Amino acid sequence: MEECIFCQIVAKQVPAKVVYEDENCLAFLDINPLAAGHTLVIPKKHTKNILEIDEATLKHLICVVKKLSENIKGKLQADGINIFQSNEKAAGQEIHHFHIHIIPRKLEDGLELQKYWAMKIKKMSDEQLEKIAKLIKMEDSVEKVEEAPKKVEEEKPRSKEEVYWMKREMNIA
Ligand code: 5GP
Ligand code: ZN
Repeated sequence: MEECIFCQIVAKQVPAKVVYEDENCLAFLDINPLAAGHTLVIPKKHTKNILEIDEATLKHLICVVKKLSENIKGKLQADGINIFQSNEKAAGQEIHHFHIHIIPRKLEDGLELQKYWAMKIKKMSDEQLEKIAKLIKMEDSVEKVEEAPKKVEEEKPRSKEEVYWMKREMNIA
């Protein structure tokens, strides 16, 4: 993708303030930041958006986003972090190379991103919500997501009886 600006950044043909790099991923400062430390995390391989990116790369990128967020929050003494990601023109995606925004926030920083949420004035009726939920519900979605971590059962202390029988089985009682 010769004409893609982010591919050009990956190829080092266009300069960028790189803050993290590995084999598959690059993170650099947004040229037009919403806040100091506003960072973009991208796959090195040109991929349009969340609908096209492969799961393994996406998992890797989100782990990088977490690490960078911890680092940025600590180093810039941010009070919070917004993670933002747009797909397709209708959602405001300007650069059609997948990227995740990390936006450090300060209390009272005047960045009124929350205003967008306050715009959720078109309240839906319970019936409408129910209809949409039915339409988009994925059966067994948790199982369908590969490598979802299994819920670890908390280990209960063994009773004397259990220990006795375990020892019997091992021929040490
Ligand atoms: P989008 O609206 O597609 O989610 O965000 C694209 C982001 O890329 C914008 O925040 C914009 O400031 C940033 N951007 C666009 N061109 C460049 C560039 O050449 N270098 C860097 N570092 N960021 C860019
Ligand atoms: Zn690209």
